[in-house]
Amino acid sequence: MPTIQLEIGPQTNIKELVADFPIAEKVLTEFGLGCVGCGVSATETIEQGARAHGLRIEPILAALSQARLSGSVPPIADEDRRPQRRAPGAFAGRAKIKHIVPIMSGKGGVGKSLVTALLALGLRRRHLTVGILDADITGPSIPKIFGLRTPMTIEPDPNRTTPDGRPQPLMVPSQSRSAIEIVSANLLTDKEDTAMVWRGPILSGVIRQFYEQVTWSDLDVLLVDLPPGTSDAPLTVLQSLDINGVVLVTMPQALATMIVRKAANLVHQMKKPILGVVENMSYFIAPDTGKRYDIFGPSYADAVAELAEAPVLARIPIDPRKAQLADEGRVEEIDDPVCDALATALLDAIAAHPKPTETISLI
Ligand code: ADP
Repeated sequence: MPTIQLEIGPQTNIKELVADFPIAEKVLTEFGLGCVGCGVSATETIEQGARAHGLRIEPILAALSQARLSGSVPPIADEDRRPQRRAPGAFAGRAKIKHIVPIMSGKGGVGKSLVTALLALGLRRRHLTVGILDADITGPSIPKIFGLRTPMTIEPDPNRTTPDGRPQPLMVPSQSRSAIEIVSANLLTDKEDTAMVWRGPILSGVIRQFYEQVTWSDLDVLLVDLPPGTSDAPLTVLQSLDINGVVLVTMPQALATMIVRKAANLVHQMKKPILGVVENMSYFIAPDTGKRYDIFGPSYADAVAELAEAPVLARIPIDPRKAQLADEGRVEEIDDPVCDALATALLDAIAAHPKPTETISLI
């Protein structure tokens, strides 16, 4: 029988609890609180974890106490592990989403999806409710880096019907281990490598459906992983969602300034602010010598920020460990101060650009 040092209560930190009482990990996993091994749990209490996952805390505390007495995981009722999401009947329109922030890049492969994930993790570590709309429809990588494979469930919308009289389908977002809500074209099918071919106008429509026909919870922040470039699809998002402003992701390349100028012009034409610039793969620190190498050349972050009339939110080094965790679907295990730095800088930028009070509705 383990000797427990820690008192188990709503304010108990999840990581400390598991360190002290390993079976707690199994109990929490049974409840779908798979965040035990992930970076978010280091800063999360049982109460915060339960709330983020939409679970009642009482059965969790009861099961942990029982496990402490018996040394094994007690049976857990199905209803106690089912997130209390908004019932479809209660879905009378849109969730209340406080801030919508698209993440944009001038070109593919600069790490836009990874930066989106790191931002989401940093925001979750501050106990905010976070969603990711993966609008990078032709190369959706968000589900993969979060290790999500099960397709989203679809429910009939009791309030709306299609033109032929059938109830309109509503998508239920998938939930990541640390309770980030995720909607992606990759979660419409269970075949991870199905190539999706979408024509421009359909693509824009799909992105809008991913916002409108989804039972999002009331979120503090919805991050939108945009398709790379300045084509129709990112334009639709900028036009049709009531966004706070855009985060631009770049790499240290001379070309970046040119591409970013184009992206910045587009955003400014839409009369939306650029909240900040993230320079990814900015440099590399050799783990053995601590020496810094500018692999892709000197930083252009300041020049890009000047063009974008926005601050540099972070310079993120090349880090093979992050790439590996992302590749293995374990991005939430990244426990790196850069997540906190990104979240703090983004929240500061959001506060510095209050949205106009009138609500611009969807077109
Ligand atoms: P994008 O969304 O811009 O196309 P991704 O986020 O998919 O780019 O990143 C492309 C590849 O680069 C991925 O394999 C990712 O893990 C890797 N990557 C991104 N940022 C970094 C980084 N800072 N260090 C190491 N690898 C990175």
